[in-house]
Amino acid sequence: MGFEDVGFTTADPFDEHKRLLQEMSAEYAWAEAVGLELLKGTDPRTIMPTAKTIIVLMEVYFREAYPRSMEGHFGRCYLDDDRITHDGLYQRIKAFRGFLRDHGIDSQVPFNLPHRVAAARAGMGTFGKNCLFYSNAVARGGSWTLPIAVVIDREFPPGTPTMEIDCPDWCRNACIAACPTRALKGNGRIDPRKCISYLTYFGDGLTPLELREPMGMYVYGCDRCQNVCPRNQAWLAQELPMNEKVVAKAADFNLSAMLHMDIPYFETRIWPHMFYMSTNDIWRWKMNVAWVMGNSRDRRYTGDLTRTLQGNPDERVRAMAAWALGKLGGDEAQSALLAARDTESKMVNAEVALALEGGKP
Ligand code: SF4
Ligand code: SF4
Repeated sequence: MGFEDVGFTTADPFDEHKRLLQEMSAEYAWAEAVGLELLKGTDPRTIMPTAKTIIVLMEVYFREAYPRSMEGHFGRCYLDDDRITHDGLYQRIKAFRGFLRDHGIDSQVPFNLPHRVAAARAGMGTFGKNCLFYSNAVARGGSWTLPIAVVIDREFPPGTPTMEIDCPDWCRNACIAACPTRALKGNGRIDPRKCISYLTYFGDGLTPLELREPMGMYVYGCDRCQNVCPRNQAWLAQELPMNEKVVAKAADFNLSAMLHMDIPYFETRIWPHMFYMSTNDIWRWKMNVAWVMGNSRDRRYTGDLTRTLQGNPDERVRAMAAWALGKLGGDEAQSALLAARDTESKMVNAEVALALEGGKP
């Protein structure tokens, strides 16, 4: 069915993981608030009372190459995500569950089970200090993997757990040094609230000034701590065939198009592929695109940002457009900022003034 590896572990609770989530309750409060139910997911028997085994299917989500225009702005794991469109992995999981059913085995695929921990407990790989799971059998030992935990009511012999962090001593913590927002704590833990991935889709309000440059060119997600990791270089060095499905939708994810998109555009072309933000959050998509344009150093975007500063209905988007114009600089950007000076809401006026002063607080 196209999965690259398979492993087995018991359906025993993930007590250590539960303890970690409880210790880090402040860091993970947002996850419970949006209904992810991570704590509940630490006991497979709350999901299936008759659970005996977890089968872990290993998917490599970076099996094919992606256009630079896509992987430069979006985390790779979101580029071919079919959780809404149901036209890829979803069908294979469904077929696998059908296969189990044909053999008299009941199954559940819970979204909230700690799937990476399940994979490590099944002995399928180890962790990195960037908190990601590294396969010991596929993706040339890399982290471009998506373990899928299937809870079943049949006993199978479990694998030998490999729960450790297995980074080479000589690496000198490249991921921790590369993380621009210092989300990685160095002990195999992460503060998700500081992670760019979280900030791009769940961040609150206008992105703080000190994060805008560090968030760089990412509109949604972040792969920096994976891209710099030596454990991933064997996979990254390969020539891979291009993912034509992603090529086909790349034009829809053009930065200018997203900055000016209307609700039907968002709902038909963007949301089905990257759905953590709802239609009500369309402003955040645009705000993210605006800071990326500002960080791009590409004055081709001056016109887009000027139009946004002049006409976007959301002050957070206009404010970020002002910041981005200040970053791009040049006569045209300066004129747009001067025209907007003191004509705006308090938030936008402050950003315009800051941009005209050269961007320093
Ligand atoms: S995904 Fe980005 S922001 Fe998050 S921990 Fe990795 S490097 Fe840091
Ligand atoms: S960059 Fe280095 S420390 Fe970080 S996960 Fe990779 S090998 Fe481990």
